[in-house]
Amino acid sequence: MPDDAIYLEQMELGPMQNFVYLIGDPQARECVVVDPAWEIDTIVETAQADGMRLTGALVTHTHQDHVGGSLASWGMPGRIPGVEELLTRVPLKVYVHRSEREFLPGLGSDLVKVDNHDTLAVGRLTLRFLHTPGHTPGSQCFLVDDRLVSGDTLFIGGCGRTDLPGSDPSEMYYSLTQRLAALPDATVLYPGHNYGGPSSTIGDEKRDNPYMRVASLGDFLRAMGGGRVVMP
Ligand SMILES: [Zn+2]
Repeated sequence: MPDDAIYLEQMELGPMQNFVYLIGDPQARECVVVDPAWEIDTIVETAQADGMRLTGALVTHTHQDHVGGSLASWGMPGRIPGVEELLTRVPLKVYVHRSEREFLPGLGSDLVKVDNHDTLAVGRLTLRFLHTPGHTPGSQCFLVDDRLVSGDTLFIGGCGRTDLPGSDPSEMYYSLTQRLAALPDATVLYPGHNYGGPSSTIGDEKRDNPYMRVASLGDFLRAMGGGRVVMP
């Protein structure tokens, strides 16, 4: 499929350098949003201005800076508007990995549980869910054509924290070095935070990212235990 056959908008929203994505089919005029947590107005208005109909929300994982919710568990006041506010504006389905569905209570039939290698049609596009646990049990990446939206699993030059409740550094090792490293080198990487620029490729990360270059699980666990971790 030629490049212009995909609609992809990358927006850096909120105070934590989160990247929110709109991905869709410009001919069908249909798109999904990835990790709608911050500035719901901006998300809805951007899709509208581009003439795209929002039909789904895809969740890379259920941390508040990706789906919204109370900040009490982070010891901070207030809440991030997130998926719940988006649903009051636009009727759509919310796709979350089955192992984190309990962290999105109250969505009822709007919630769709997905698993590794499930697919979703967005217009003529086929979007594939890749389960990449480690940062959280239900962390997932989304593959569409030759583009990967990686949430907090793989960052440019880094990876997500594995010292949080529900994290598992061994799972992160296998997600990075088996599942994501198996993708073609030309796959374009779109991370969940702007920690090193807007995009990279799997090939560049396999060559330069110390968390993908690591030689063994033991080395990886030592690296993650040594405090060299990137923010959530
Ligand atoms: Zn996170």
